[in-house]
Amino acid sequence: MDYDVIILGGGIVGCAVSYELSKYNLNIALIEKDYDIADDVALINSSIVYDGLECEDTLLAKLELMGNRLMPGLASKFNICFKKKGYLLVANSEKSEEKLIRIYDRALKRGIKNIYLLNSSDIHEIEPGLNENARKAIYSKNTGIISPYDLAISYGEIAFDNGVNFKLGEEVLDIQNISKGFKVITNKNKFTCNMVLNTTPGENYSIDSENRVNKDRKYLKYFLVGKNTERDYKNIISMVEEDDEKIYTMPTRKNGLLIGIKNGEKISYEKALQKIRCFIKDIPEENIEEFYESLFYNDSLIIDDSLIDKGYIKVAGKHYGQITMTPVIANIVCETIVNNLNCVLKKDFVDRRREFYRFRDLSNEDRKNIIKLNKNYGRVICYCEKITEGEIIDAIRRPLGARTIEGIKRRTGAALGNCKGSQCLCKIASILSREINKDMIYIVKDSKNSNIITGRIKEFDEM
Ligand SMILES: Cc1cc2nc3c(=O)[nH]c(=O)nc-3n(C[C@H](O)[C@H](O)[C@H](O)COP(=O)(O)OP(=O)(O)OC[C@H]3O[C@@H](n4cnc5c(N)ncnc54)[C@H](O)[C@@H]3O)c2cc1C
Repeated sequence: MDYDVIILGGGIVGCAVSYELSKYNLNIALIEKDYDIADDVALINSSIVYDGLECEDTLLAKLELMGNRLMPGLASKFNICFKKKGYLLVANSEKSEEKLIRIYDRALKRGIKNIYLLNSSDIHEIEPGLNENARKAIYSKNTGIISPYDLAISYGEIAFDNGVNFKLGEEVLDIQNISKGFKVITNKNKFTCNMVLNTTPGENYSIDSENRVNKDRKYLKYFLVGKNTERDYKNIISMVEEDDEKIYTMPTRKNGLLIGIKNGEKISYEKALQKIRCFIKDIPEENIEEFYESLFYNDSLIIDDSLIDKGYIKVAGKHYGQITMTPVIANIVCETIVNNLNCVLKKDFVDRRREFYRFRDLSNEDRKNIIKLNKNYGRVICYCEKITEGEIIDAIRRPLGARTIEGIKRRTGAALGNCKGSQCLCKIASILSREINKDMIYIVKDSKNSNIITGRIKEFDEM
């Protein structure tokens, strides 16, 4: 057998399971079709860590609550930013007030602590920027925000350092049952293994049986509002869902505001903004820095181990709270795999990320000391976010280092400031080209064929 376990998909779930399994004496490979891990994890650098309060499905709510409890410990171990932020679930009408009370009773039955019912005046004391029609709310002190990229990349880096073989840019075409184990066929190779964990959305592999996921997908529009909002919203705020429509906001890690509007049908930019303004005051259009469209996923997420006797597990479905659930999903899947294979914990497992510096967060004294050791940290490349050449080089040279422009942006925060990279993207591309020893025309934004330079204008030897 080439491997004990092959993990398909390098999203946050695949990376988290690879981290958990790398604690054991197993030969593991992870296959990802993109050039980097966690490419689809989020639109921006902040995701909500839920606590099971808002989730319709009881089992998924339990996974959220368990994940919520694990997240602060993981963030501190991986040295990544996790900010506690309250969650305000607001009812604006009589109908939604009744629903809110049902949600509150359900949360108490689920054993969720630190939640409070607030009336209108309490709500405005906590969030003065909310419109007057906020009648009642549930306030939870359990929730927070985390960077989904940092979490996924931390999992991946530690797994890589502990021997997991990451095969990036390789697409799985089929998984076939063989007499003992599986054959995983990719566009480049054929591998055999004892067990397969499939975290990709692919449903048509030879091994797959009927699809049991109930898909519930709606339209989502996101507005990213810059730091300078006139109101300072401190909490994650969501309105109780009515007629398939829900608006929610969260403060981002960079003190901006992300506002999402979920709707059963596709609505225009203007209509979305008009609806948001009925919920949240003072969102001047000039403060909107970015606008995204996506799907809102509320599938019946399942860990399908119906073929576990053969050695196949599939994590199927997409859910808006999946980042919160990931640490728990990883523990469950790891336990199932370990129970099926004859393996023991490794003695030399290193549960730590290699050190890195975030220059913008350091004192001048620390900065000076680091620059003395490595002068690349003395050259600022991204002025908006204050990211140095040293940080960009480190992002490329680290375990499982960046090989794309997006990979560098996500690992360092470069080019994510106000100028959106107009001042630094070329410099970043030329550092990447130099570091990986590839001509600029081969440097890609993220996926295959996303080259940032399509060709030379003129070859010198033609002149
Ligand atoms: C806009 C948005 C906002 C979100 N906000 C939150 C939030 O605030 N809080 C929260 O808890 N969750 C949030 N989520 C949910 C969460 O980000 C996702 O559900 C989660 O990232 C899914 O991770 P995954 O690993 O299961 O799947 P994916 O990220 O989809 O990973 C699957 C991987 O498999 C790879 N792949 C696919 N096909 C193949 C193939 N044939 N061969 C090899 N590789 C393949 C893909 O390239 C991908 O990298 C949000 C999701 C979205 C889209």
